[in-house]
Amino acid sequence: MTTEFVLTGATVLRGSDLVASHDYWVKVDKGGRVSALGPGPLEDSTITQFDASGMIICPAFLNAHTHVIDGFLKEIGFGLPFWDVFMPPDGLRHHALSVTPTEVVTEQLGRTLDQMIACGTSLFVDFREGGLPGVKLLERLAAHRLIQPLTLGRFAAYPPQPPDDLAANEGALGIEALDEISGLVEEGAGFALVSANDLTDQGLAQVAAHVRSLGGLLALHVAESPPYREISIERTGQSDVHRVVDHLSPDFAVHLTFATPEEMDLLAEAGIPAVCCPRNHAVIGLGIPRFDLMLEAGMTVAIATDNVILASPDPLAEIQFASRVIRALREDASFPTATDMLKMITINPAKILGVDHERGSIEIGKRADLVLIDATTVNLAPVADPIAALVNRATAADIRAVFNNGVLAHGRPLEMVPSGR
Ligand SMILES: [Zn+2]
Repeated sequence: MTTEFVLTGATVLRGSDLVASHDYWVKVDKGGRVSALGPGPLEDSTITQFDASGMIICPAFLNAHTHVIDGFLKEIGFGLPFWDVFMPPDGLRHHALSVTPTEVVTEQLGRTLDQMIACGTSLFVDFREGGLPGVKLLERLAAHRLIQPLTLGRFAAYPPQPPDDLAANEGALGIEALDEISGLVEEGAGFALVSANDLTDQGLAQVAAHVRSLGGLLALHVAESPPYREISIERTGQSDVHRVVDHLSPDFAVHLTFATPEEMDLLAEAGIPAVCCPRNHAVIGLGIPRFDLMLEAGMTVAIATDNVILASPDPLAEIQFASRVIRALREDASFPTATDMLKMITINPAKILGVDHERGSIEIGKRADLVLIDATTVNLAPVADPIAALVNRATAADIRAVFNNGVLAHGRPLEMVPSGR
Protein backbone atom coordinates (compact mmCIF):
# COMPACT_ATOMS: atom_id res chain seq x y z
CA MET A 1 0.00 0.00 0.00
CA THR A 2 1.25 3.47 -0.88
CA THR A 3 -0.30 6.90 -0.79
CA GLU A 4 -1.83 8.48 -3.85
CA PHE A 5 0.52 10.85 -5.68
CA VAL A 6 1.20 12.46 -9.04
CA LEU A 7 4.44 12.87 -10.97
CA THR A 8 4.19 16.05 -13.04
CA GLY A 9 5.94 17.78 -15.91
CA ALA A 10 7.76 14.73 -17.29
CA THR A 11 8.25 13.24 -20.73
CA VAL A 12 6.19 10.06 -20.35
CA LEU A 13 6.68 7.09 -22.70
CA ARG A 14 3.01 6.14 -22.88
CA GLY A 15 1.41 2.84 -23.79
CA SER A 16 2.96 -0.23 -25.36
CA ASP A 17 4.14 1.83 -28.34
CA LEU A 18 6.11 4.11 -25.98
CA VAL A 19 4.65 7.34 -27.36
CA ALA A 20 6.86 10.17 -26.07
CA SER A 21 4.45 12.63 -24.44
CA HIS A 22 5.99 15.88 -23.23
CA ASP A 23 4.91 17.83 -20.13
CA TYR A 24 2.71 14.96 -18.93
CA TRP A 25 1.61 13.89 -15.48
CA VAL A 26 1.10 10.35 -14.15
CA LYS A 27 -1.21 9.68 -11.21
CA VAL A 28 -0.54 6.66 -8.98
CA ASP A 29 -3.31 5.33 -6.73
CA LYS A 30 -3.06 3.84 -3.25
CA GLY A 31 -2.76 0.35 -4.72
CA GLY A 32 0.35 1.35 -6.66
CA ARG A 33 -1.41 1.41 -10.02
CA VAL A 34 -1.43 4.11 -12.66
CA SER A 35 -4.92 5.62 -12.27
CA ALA A 36 -4.75 8.54 -14.71
CA LEU A 37 -2.38 10.47 -16.93
CA GLY A 38 -2.62 13.61 -18.97
CA PRO A 39 -0.91 16.67 -20.43
CA GLY A 40 -0.04 20.00 -18.85
CA PRO A 41 -0.36 21.04 -15.20
CA LEU A 42 -2.74 19.07 -12.99
CA GLU A 43 -5.22 21.43 -11.34
CA ASP A 44 -5.78 19.45 -8.14
CA SER A 45 -4.34 20.81 -4.91
CA THR A 46 -5.75 17.91 -2.84
CA ILE A 47 -3.20 15.39 -4.03
CA THR A 48 0.55 15.29 -3.40
CA GLN A 49 2.43 16.27 -6.52
CA PHE A 50 6.10 15.66 -7.22
CA ASP A 51 8.06 17.68 -9.73
CA ALA A 52 9.29 15.28 -12.41
CA SER A 53 10.23 17.99 -14.88
CA GLY A 54 13.43 17.13 -16.72
CA MET A 55 12.66 13.43 -16.29
CA ILE A 56 11.87 10.80 -18.90
CA ILE A 57 9.42 8.31 -17.35
CA CYS A 58 9.83 4.89 -18.90
CA PRO A 59 8.10 1.62 -17.98
CA ALA A 60 10.36 -0.41 -15.70
CA PHE A 61 12.42 -3.09 -17.39
CA LEU A 62 11.70 -6.81 -17.49
CA ASN A 63 14.80 -8.98 -17.73
CA ALA A 64 13.56 -12.24 -19.26
CA HIS A 65 16.68 -14.36 -18.79
CA THR A 66 19.19 -14.25 -15.97
CA HIS A 67 21.38 -16.49 -13.86
CA VAL A 68 21.72 -14.16 -10.89
CA ILE A 69 23.53 -16.71 -8.76
CA ASP A 70 26.90 -16.31 -10.45
CA GLY A 71 27.52 -12.70 -9.40
CA PHE A 72 30.25 -14.04 -7.07
CA LEU A 73 32.18 -15.26 -10.13
CA LYS A 74 32.54 -12.03 -12.10
CA GLU A 75 35.03 -12.52 -14.98
CA ILE A 76 36.11 -15.90 -13.62
CA GLY A 77 37.08 -17.99 -16.64
CA PHE A 78 37.19 -14.91 -18.83
CA GLY A 79 38.65 -15.94 -22.17
CA LEU A 80 37.74 -19.63 -21.82
CA PRO A 81 35.39 -21.38 -24.26
CA PHE A 82 31.65 -21.51 -23.58
CA TRP A 83 31.51 -25.27 -22.95
CA ASP A 84 34.30 -25.14 -20.33
CA VAL A 85 32.58 -22.39 -18.34
CA PHE A 86 28.89 -23.20 -18.59
CA MET A 87 27.94 -26.81 -19.25
CA PRO A 88 26.74 -28.82 -16.24
CA PRO A 89 27.87 -30.83 -14.44
CA ASP A 90 31.60 -30.10 -15.01
CA GLY A 91 31.63 -26.49 -16.26
CA LEU A 92 33.70 -24.04 -14.24
CA ARG A 93 30.73 -22.15 -12.82
CA HIS A 94 28.91 -25.34 -11.76
CA HIS A 95 32.04 -26.52 -10.00
CA ALA A 96 32.42 -23.13 -8.29
CA LEU A 97 28.77 -23.19 -7.21
CA SER A 98 29.28 -26.58 -5.59
CA VAL A 99 32.40 -25.64 -3.60
CA THR A 100 31.74 -22.00 -2.57
CA PRO A 101 30.27 -21.43 0.92
CA THR A 102 26.54 -20.64 0.81
CA GLU A 103 27.06 -17.39 2.77
CA VAL A 104 29.37 -16.04 0.05
CA VAL A 105 26.96 -16.96 -2.74
CA THR A 106 23.95 -15.63 -0.83
CA GLU A 107 25.47 -12.28 0.05
CA GLN A 108 26.48 -11.62 -3.54
CA LEU A 109 23.07 -12.75 -4.79
CA GLY A 110 21.39 -10.11 -2.63
CA ARG A 111 23.77 -7.46 -3.93
CA THR A 112 22.98 -8.50 -7.49
CA LEU A 113 19.23 -8.13 -6.85
CA ASP A 114 19.84 -4.63 -5.48
CA GLN A 115 21.88 -3.79 -8.56
CA MET A 116 19.07 -4.99 -10.82
CA ILE A 117 16.64 -2.65 -9.05
CA ALA A 118 19.10 0.23 -9.45
CA CYS A 119 19.28 -0.59 -13.16
CA GLY A 120 15.51 -0.06 -13.47
CA THR A 121 14.30 -3.66 -13.32
CA SER A 122 10.93 -4.62 -11.82
CA LEU A 123 10.77 -8.29 -12.79
CA PHE A 124 13.22 -10.93 -13.97
CA VAL A 125 13.16 -14.56 -15.03
CA ASP A 126 15.92 -16.65 -13.52
CA PHE A 127 17.02 -20.13 -14.51
CA ARG A 128 17.90 -21.38 -11.05
CA GLU A 129 20.35 -24.21 -10.55
CA GLY A 130 20.55 -26.26 -7.39
CA GLY A 131 17.12 -27.87 -7.46
CA LEU A 132 14.53 -26.95 -4.85
CA PRO A 133 16.97 -25.36 -2.35
CA GLY A 134 18.22 -23.14 -5.18
CA VAL A 135 14.70 -21.93 -5.96
CA LYS A 136 13.92 -21.34 -2.28
CA LEU A 137 17.09 -19.27 -1.79
CA LEU A 138 16.25 -16.86 -4.59
CA GLU A 139 12.59 -16.57 -3.59
CA ARG A 140 13.61 -15.82 0.01
CA LEU A 141 16.10 -13.10 -0.92
CA ALA A 142 13.75 -11.45 -3.43
CA ALA A 143 10.77 -11.49 -1.04
CA HIS A 144 12.35 -8.65 0.98
CA ARG A 145 13.11 -6.49 -2.02
CA LEU A 146 11.17 -4.34 -4.47
CA ILE A 147 11.76 -6.61 -7.44
CA GLN A 148 9.84 -9.71 -8.44
CA PRO A 149 11.44 -12.95 -9.65
CA LEU A 150 9.91 -15.56 -11.88
CA THR A 151 12.08 -18.45 -10.78
CA LEU A 152 12.33 -21.39 -13.14
CA GLY A 153 13.92 -24.29 -11.29
CA ARG A 154 16.13 -26.96 -12.82
CA PHE A 155 16.79 -30.58 -12.06
CA ALA A 156 19.25 -30.90 -9.17
CA ALA A 157 21.30 -33.56 -11.00
CA TYR A 158 22.40 -34.01 -14.61
CA PRO A 159 21.71 -35.84 -16.84
CA PRO A 160 18.07 -36.42 -15.80
CA GLN A 161 17.77 -39.50 -18.05
CA PRO A 162 20.35 -42.31 -18.39
CA PRO A 163 23.03 -41.55 -21.04
CA ASP A 164 22.13 -44.74 -22.95
CA ASP A 165 18.47 -43.66 -23.19
CA LEU A 166 19.54 -40.22 -24.41
CA ALA A 167 21.94 -41.69 -26.99
CA ALA A 168 19.19 -43.95 -28.39
CA ASN A 169 16.44 -41.30 -27.96
CA GLU A 170 14.35 -43.93 -26.21
CA GLY A 171 12.81 -44.07 -22.78
CA ALA A 172 10.59 -42.08 -20.49
CA LEU A 173 11.37 -39.74 -17.62
CA GLY A 174 10.85 -41.41 -14.24
CA ILE A 175 8.14 -40.49 -11.76
CA GLU A 176 10.75 -39.10 -9.34
CA ALA A 177 11.83 -36.58 -11.95
CA LEU A 178 8.24 -35.49 -12.54
CA ASP A 179 7.76 -35.14 -8.78
CA GLU A 180 10.89 -33.00 -8.65
CA ILE A 181 9.40 -30.72 -11.32
CA SER A 182 6.17 -30.43 -9.30
CA GLY A 183 8.12 -29.20 -6.29
CA LEU A 184 10.08 -26.67 -8.34
CA VAL A 185 6.99 -25.22 -10.02
CA GLU A 186 5.11 -25.06 -6.73
CA GLU A 187 7.93 -23.14 -5.03
CA GLY A 188 8.85 -20.91 -7.98
CA ALA A 189 7.13 -19.95 -11.21
CA GLY A 190 8.04 -22.75 -13.57
CA PHE A 191 10.66 -25.10 -14.91
CA ALA A 192 13.69 -24.78 -17.17
CA LEU A 193 15.76 -27.33 -19.01
CA VAL A 194 19.37 -26.60 -19.90
CA SER A 195 18.64 -27.72 -23.47
CA ALA A 196 16.52 -30.14 -25.47
CA ASN A 197 19.44 -32.56 -25.25
CA ASP A 198 18.66 -33.08 -21.55
CA LEU A 199 15.85 -35.47 -22.53
CA THR A 200 14.56 -37.92 -25.11
CA ASP A 201 11.68 -36.87 -27.33
CA GLN A 202 9.37 -38.78 -25.01
CA GLY A 203 10.88 -37.02 -22.00
CA LEU A 204 10.35 -33.60 -23.61
CA ALA A 205 6.68 -34.39 -24.23
CA GLN A 206 6.26 -35.58 -20.65
CA VAL A 207 7.82 -32.40 -19.26
CA ALA A 208 5.65 -30.22 -21.51
CA ALA A 209 2.44 -31.93 -20.41
CA HIS A 210 3.47 -31.94 -16.75
CA VAL A 211 4.52 -28.28 -16.49
CA ARG A 212 1.38 -27.20 -18.39
CA SER A 213 -0.82 -29.22 -16.02
CA LEU A 214 0.82 -27.35 -13.11
CA GLY A 215 0.29 -23.94 -14.75
CA GLY A 216 4.03 -23.13 -14.71
CA LEU A 217 6.25 -21.32 -17.19
CA LEU A 218 8.44 -23.57 -19.33
CA ALA A 219 11.63 -22.46 -21.07
CA LEU A 220 15.10 -23.64 -22.09
CA HIS A 221 18.25 -22.68 -23.98
CA VAL A 222 17.90 -23.44 -27.71
CA ALA A 223 20.50 -23.29 -30.50
CA GLU A 224 22.95 -21.75 -28.06
CA SER A 225 26.12 -23.29 -29.52
CA PRO A 226 26.93 -25.65 -32.42
CA PRO A 227 27.03 -28.82 -30.25
CA TYR A 228 23.37 -28.28 -29.30
CA ARG A 229 22.45 -28.99 -32.90
CA GLU A 230 25.14 -31.64 -33.54
CA ILE A 231 24.29 -33.72 -30.47
CA SER A 232 20.57 -33.46 -31.17
CA ILE A 233 20.92 -34.57 -34.80
CA GLU A 234 23.26 -37.41 -33.89
CA ARG A 235 20.79 -38.82 -31.37
CA THR A 236 17.45 -38.04 -32.98
CA GLY A 237 17.97 -36.99 -36.60
CA GLN A 238 16.50 -33.56 -35.80
CA SER A 239 17.99 -30.25 -34.65
CA ASP A 240 17.19 -29.08 -31.14
CA VAL A 241 15.02 -26.30 -32.61
CA HIS A 242 12.85 -28.82 -34.47
CA ARG A 243 12.55 -31.05 -31.40
CA VAL A 244 11.54 -28.10 -29.23
CA VAL A 245 8.82 -27.15 -31.71
CA ASP A 246 7.60 -30.73 -32.13
CA HIS A 247 7.74 -32.01 -28.56
CA LEU A 248 8.02 -29.18 -26.01
CA SER A 249 6.30 -25.93 -27.14
CA PRO A 250 7.93 -23.84 -24.40
CA ASP A 251 6.75 -20.36 -23.41
CA PHE A 252 9.99 -19.05 -24.88
CA ALA A 253 13.31 -20.18 -26.30
CA VAL A 254 16.48 -18.56 -24.95
CA HIS A 255 19.37 -17.57 -27.26
CA LEU A 256 18.79 -19.02 -30.79
CA THR A 257 22.21 -17.66 -31.72
CA PHE A 258 22.68 -20.60 -34.10
CA ALA A 259 19.09 -20.82 -35.38
CA THR A 260 18.80 -20.80 -39.17
CA PRO A 261 16.35 -18.50 -40.99
CA GLU A 262 14.22 -21.59 -41.74
CA GLU A 263 14.15 -22.42 -38.02
CA MET A 264 13.16 -18.83 -37.18
CA ASP A 265 10.21 -19.20 -39.54
CA LEU A 266 9.31 -22.48 -37.87
CA LEU A 267 9.41 -20.88 -34.41
CA ALA A 268 7.39 -17.90 -35.63
CA GLU A 269 4.75 -20.22 -37.07
CA ALA A 270 4.63 -22.19 -33.82
CA GLY A 271 4.22 -18.95 -31.83
CA ILE A 272 7.35 -19.59 -29.75
CA PRO A 273 9.03 -16.29 -28.75
CA ALA A 274 12.76 -15.66 -28.37
CA VAL A 275 14.84 -14.23 -25.55
CA CYS A 276 18.27 -13.17 -26.80
CA CYS A 277 21.35 -12.24 -24.75
CA PRO A 278 23.84 -10.48 -27.06
CA ARG A 279 26.49 -9.35 -24.55
CA ASN A 280 27.00 -12.80 -23.02
CA HIS A 281 27.22 -14.50 -26.38
CA ALA A 282 29.51 -11.86 -27.82
CA VAL A 283 32.00 -11.90 -24.96
CA ILE A 284 32.29 -15.67 -24.86
CA GLY A 285 32.91 -15.79 -28.58
CA LEU A 286 29.72 -17.56 -29.65
CA GLY A 287 28.43 -14.83 -31.94
CA ILE A 288 25.52 -12.44 -32.06
CA PRO A 289 21.93 -13.71 -31.83
CA ARG A 290 20.17 -12.29 -34.90
CA PHE A 291 17.17 -10.87 -33.07
CA ASP A 292 16.66 -8.54 -36.05
CA LEU A 293 16.03 -11.53 -38.33
CA MET A 294 13.75 -13.06 -35.67
CA LEU A 295 11.71 -9.84 -35.59
CA GLU A 296 11.54 -9.88 -39.39
CA ALA A 297 10.40 -13.52 -39.28
CA GLY A 298 7.48 -12.41 -37.11
CA MET A 299 8.70 -13.66 -33.73
CA THR A 300 8.16 -11.78 -30.49
CA VAL A 301 11.64 -11.05 -29.09
CA ALA A 302 12.93 -9.94 -25.72
CA ILE A 303 16.52 -8.99 -24.90
CA ALA A 304 18.00 -10.08 -21.57
CA THR A 305 21.29 -9.97 -19.69
CA ASP A 306 21.91 -13.70 -18.90
CA ASN A 307 24.80 -14.73 -16.62
CA VAL A 308 26.12 -12.13 -14.20
CA ILE A 309 29.50 -13.88 -14.47
CA LEU A 310 29.90 -12.27 -17.92
CA ALA A 311 27.64 -9.21 -18.02
CA SER A 312 26.11 -6.78 -15.56
CA PRO A 313 22.35 -7.29 -15.08
CA ASP A 314 21.70 -3.94 -16.74
CA PRO A 315 19.01 -3.92 -19.46
CA LEU A 316 19.98 -0.48 -20.79
CA ALA A 317 23.57 -1.64 -21.31
CA GLU A 318 22.28 -4.74 -23.08
CA ILE A 319 20.10 -2.93 -25.60
CA GLN A 320 22.73 -0.28 -26.21
CA PHE A 321 25.26 -2.96 -27.16
CA ALA A 322 22.68 -4.93 -29.16
CA SER A 323 21.51 -1.87 -31.06
CA ARG A 324 25.03 -0.91 -32.11
CA VAL A 325 26.18 -4.39 -33.09
CA ILE A 326 23.13 -5.21 -35.17
CA ARG A 327 23.32 -1.89 -37.06
CA ALA A 328 26.97 -2.63 -37.80
CA LEU A 329 26.23 -6.18 -38.99
CA ARG A 330 23.36 -5.04 -41.21
CA GLU A 331 25.30 -2.00 -42.42
CA ASP A 332 21.99 -0.22 -41.95
CA ALA A 333 21.03 2.24 -39.20
CA SER A 334 17.27 2.04 -39.79
CA PHE A 335 16.27 -1.28 -38.18
CA PRO A 336 15.44 -2.24 -35.50
CA THR A 337 14.31 1.24 -34.51
CA ALA A 338 15.05 2.70 -31.08
CA THR A 339 11.41 1.99 -30.13
CA ASP A 340 11.79 -1.64 -31.29
CA MET A 341 14.87 -1.93 -29.05
CA LEU A 342 13.18 -0.44 -25.97
CA LYS A 343 10.14 -2.68 -26.45
CA MET A 344 12.44 -5.69 -26.14
CA ILE A 345 13.05 -4.88 -22.45
CA THR A 346 9.51 -3.64 -21.66
CA ILE A 347 6.31 -4.74 -23.41
CA ASN A 348 7.75 -7.68 -25.38
CA PRO A 349 8.97 -9.61 -22.34
CA ALA A 350 5.71 -8.73 -20.55
CA LYS A 351 3.78 -10.37 -23.39
CA ILE A 352 6.11 -13.39 -23.52
CA LEU A 353 5.71 -13.94 -19.79
CA GLY A 354 1.95 -13.42 -19.81
CA VAL A 355 2.11 -10.40 -17.49
CA ASP A 356 1.30 -7.63 -20.00
CA HIS A 357 -2.08 -7.03 -18.36
CA GLU A 358 -0.22 -5.40 -15.47
CA ARG A 359 3.36 -4.74 -16.55
CA GLY A 360 5.49 -3.64 -19.49
CA SER A 361 3.91 -0.26 -20.31
CA ILE A 362 2.58 2.89 -18.68
CA GLU A 363 -1.19 2.60 -18.94
CA ILE A 364 -4.19 3.16 -16.71
CA GLY A 365 -4.80 0.12 -14.52
CA LYS A 366 -1.27 -1.27 -14.78
CA ARG A 367 1.29 -1.32 -11.96
CA ALA A 368 3.25 1.91 -11.52
CA ASP A 369 6.56 0.18 -12.27
CA LEU A 370 8.46 3.23 -13.48
CA VAL A 371 12.02 4.29 -14.26
CA LEU A 372 12.71 8.02 -14.05
CA ILE A 373 15.70 8.94 -16.19
CA ASP A 374 17.22 12.35 -15.58
CA ALA A 375 17.34 14.00 -18.99
CA THR A 376 19.33 16.94 -17.57
CA THR A 377 22.54 15.02 -16.81
CA VAL A 378 25.72 15.96 -18.63
CA ASN A 379 25.56 12.57 -20.30
CA LEU A 380 22.05 12.99 -21.75
CA ALA A 381 21.32 16.70 -22.20
CA PRO A 382 20.23 18.03 -24.58
CA VAL A 383 17.76 15.29 -25.47
CA ALA A 384 16.53 15.53 -29.05
CA ASP A 385 14.81 12.12 -29.06
CA PRO A 386 14.01 10.60 -25.65
CA ILE A 387 13.74 7.00 -26.85
CA ALA A 388 16.94 7.17 -28.90
CA ALA A 389 18.63 8.76 -25.87
CA LEU A 390 17.64 5.79 -23.69
CA VAL A 391 18.68 3.20 -26.25
CA ASN A 392 21.83 4.86 -27.50
CA ARG A 393 23.29 6.80 -24.58
CA ALA A 394 21.64 6.45 -21.15
CA THR A 395 23.35 4.44 -18.41
CA ALA A 396 22.19 3.33 -14.98
CA ALA A 397 23.93 6.46 -13.61
CA ASP A 398 21.28 8.58 -15.35
CA ILE A 399 18.47 6.83 -13.45
CA ARG A 400 17.10 9.23 -10.82
CA ALA A 401 14.43 6.93 -9.34
CA VAL A 402 12.80 3.55 -9.75
CA PHE A 403 9.26 2.80 -8.60
CA ASN A 404 7.92 -0.71 -8.09
CA ASN A 405 4.14 -0.82 -7.82
CA GLY A 406 4.14 2.85 -6.81
CA VAL A 407 6.81 2.46 -4.11
CA LEU A 408 10.22 4.15 -4.43
CA ALA A 409 12.54 1.16 -4.89
CA HIS A 410 15.72 3.06 -5.70
CA GLY A 411 16.98 6.63 -5.99
CA ARG A 412 16.16 9.97 -4.43
CA PRO A 413 12.67 11.32 -3.75
CA LEU A 414 11.59 14.16 -6.02
CA GLU A 415 10.78 17.68 -4.81
CA MET A 416 7.16 18.23 -3.87
CA VAL A 417 5.27 20.82 -5.92
CA PRO A 418 4.07 23.58 -3.56
CA SER A 419 0.27 23.37 -3.42
CA GLY A 420 -1.53 26.13 -5.29
CA ARG A 421 1.08 26.29 -8.03
ZN1 LIG B 1 20.88 -19.23 -19.52
